[in-house]
Amino acid sequence: MKKIITACLAALLVLTLFGCGAGASYEDRTIYGMDTYITLRLSDDSVSDAYVDEVADGCAAIIAKNEKLMSSHDEDAVIYGFNHGADVVENPDSSLVSVLRTAKNLAELTDGAFSPTLGALTELWNVTGGGPVQKDEDVKKALEHVDLSSLTVADEKLSKTDREVKIDLGGIAKGYTAQEILEYLVKTDVKYGAVSMGGNVGVFGEKPDGTPFKIGVTDPRNREDVVGYLSVDNGFVAVSGDYERYFEENGKRYHHIIDPATGAPADSGLASAAVWANSGSAADALSTALFVMGEEKALELYRSGRIRFEAILITTDGKVTVTDGIGEDFELTSDDYVMKNQEAEN
Ligand code: ADP
Ligand code: MG
Repeated sequence: MKKIITACLAALLVLTLFGCGAGASYEDRTIYGMDTYITLRLSDDSVSDAYVDEVADGCAAIIAKNEKLMSSHDEDAVIYGFNHGADVVENPDSSLVSVLRTAKNLAELTDGAFSPTLGALTELWNVTGGGPVQKDEDVKKALEHVDLSSLTVADEKLSKTDREVKIDLGGIAKGYTAQEILEYLVKTDVKYGAVSMGGNVGVFGEKPDGTPFKIGVTDPRNREDVVGYLSVDNGFVAVSGDYERYFEENGKRYHHIIDPATGAPADSGLASAAVWANSGSAADALSTALFVMGEEKALELYRSGRIRFEAILITTDGKVTVTDGIGEDFELTSDDYVMKNQEAEN
């Protein structure tokens, strides 16, 4: 039951994620997979409804394929098996190799803020299952098995040196899949559109009036509303927040994004982090990483130029910071939030 409620809430998020704009006409299709509702918004310009259905089936097949590879709770999935007993995967699927390689890279680039080997911690906290709060000593024990260097990813084989290391691709699999879907969509006759899956949006093609796609950034304190809209004409936007999955104990919120430095839910002062990147996996992993890092370190990574992205950072006290490249492309619409740079001027 709990799972279903989470899923319905996730659907609300999806629907607020992108608007239409003048001159564009779409067919929407919804698919359920990877624990979330996936919305396809596809231009019906010079294609039939039946063709759109076919394309949607093609997208559903990609989602089903990746779920069977990357899930850490579907007992038939390859990663589930790798986490529970099978310490070696021979001849892994190329998508699995690709997402794991990217995940390792992003873990290194973010100094471990994004940590795809923290499965022992997410299992321990069981946030989706409602907790409870964990004892420090148990967290410490789980942390000993969060180790990127234990994992070897090669085309012919996946292996790990520590049997208790568990992979969790929850922070990258949806963005990776959104990217595979977009790579498929651009090869179809659909001219433009978007895919939205659990806080990850990818857009493709050009709208007839040439205007950008507008993506609503969910209000982390009122998820039926948006903080504002980000205009993009390509690439991917991912949002990570403390509102997506959490439980509360003694008035404190314990959410699903873990700080690998402490082993506990991240407490960086951010309520959410939205990231634009030209790859779906980078946007997804970085939104998780920036949320863990907090504003200051996130902006340091941005300025370092080690990886190209743009970000909208929303603090728990309602302040919004955008990176330089976003500039006027983000339009604040909620009265409950204030742009940080403007606040400094007032
Ligand atoms: P969502 O799944 O709600 O879209 P994210 O993309 O931020 O949100 O991913 C959060 C998921 O990623 C968690 O549910 C967990 O599976 C995993 N995760 C949690 N903390 C981290 C972390 N620091 N690094 C990598 N993955 C994480
Ligand atoms: Mg993410």
